[in-house]
Amino acid sequence: MSKQLQEAARRLAASKNILVLTGAGISADSGIPTFRGKDGLWNNRRGEELASIDLLLEDPKLAWQWYDAMRVLIAKNKPNPGHLALAALEKMRPDLALTTQNIDGYHSDAGSRRVFELHGNFWRLRCMACGKMDENRQAPIKELPPKCACGGLLRPDIVLYGEQLPVEALEGAFARARESDFCLVVGTSCVVYPAALLPQAAKRNGAFLLEVNPENTQLSEYADMTINGTAAAVLPKLVHALQS
Ligand code: NAD
Repeated sequence: MSKQLQEAARRLAASKNILVLTGAGISADSGIPTFRGKDGLWNNRRGEELASIDLLLEDPKLAWQWYDAMRVLIAKNKPNPGHLALAALEKMRPDLALTTQNIDGYHSDAGSRRVFELHGNFWRLRCMACGKMDENRQAPIKELPPKCACGGLLRPDIVLYGEQLPVEALEGAFARARESDFCLVVGTSCVVYPAALLPQAAKRNGAFLLEVNPENTQLSEYADMTINGTAAAVLPKLVHALQS
């Protein structure tokens, strides 16, 4: 085992309050493309454009074609050893709080229980007219765009570009960040705010900041350690090191 992993596990074992922040990169190993990676294009459009409130309002059918394609892809694939390792870590460490920018639901599917989904979840649909919310795992959806029984347009309960984050999840996540003494950041380019501020809030509390990402990011400069590797390769080793 590398010296870096041993040191990371030693720090993790000595900590009392773990905050984890994950981004699209942790699901890359499950076959879900990131937005800013080399495969981040869909129909020549950028993820940020497709996942915008503007597109949903201007062209609900096109927006829904992309949501549907993403939902089909997520349904066809499954959580990877990175997600499973974090669920195992939560069992060992009840102090762990997992915050994610992902909307694929893979952390819960992997068995994580205390998950702050900062950007919502693709499987919940909300009516834009009456506000009714339901879980809906149909993928593909028969007729696009889907409609509510009241006739209103349904949308995924995710935070689209141009929208505010859910206040409750955000406040909960920042409260945890301000108390944490170990912050693990996995698979995020840390350019989407305010989620990108969470590691900084933890660091201000004196937390040890560990980044796991195959590439260096904006965070790498002030992280205490960056392990350059994929989530599926590194996280199971980290949890194993903690157990041994
Ligand atoms: P991002 O696309 O900006 O960055 C992805 C990061 O993951 C990059 O730094 C990349 O180097 C890293 N990465 C790539 N492969 C990896 C691997 N195998 N293991 C670990 N890291 C890896 O992602 P972001 O910072 O999360 O921001 C994108 C936004 O788009 C988020 O708000 C999220 O809601 C949304 N999004 C979600 C999903 C999903 O739910 N799976 C997928 C795409 C985008």
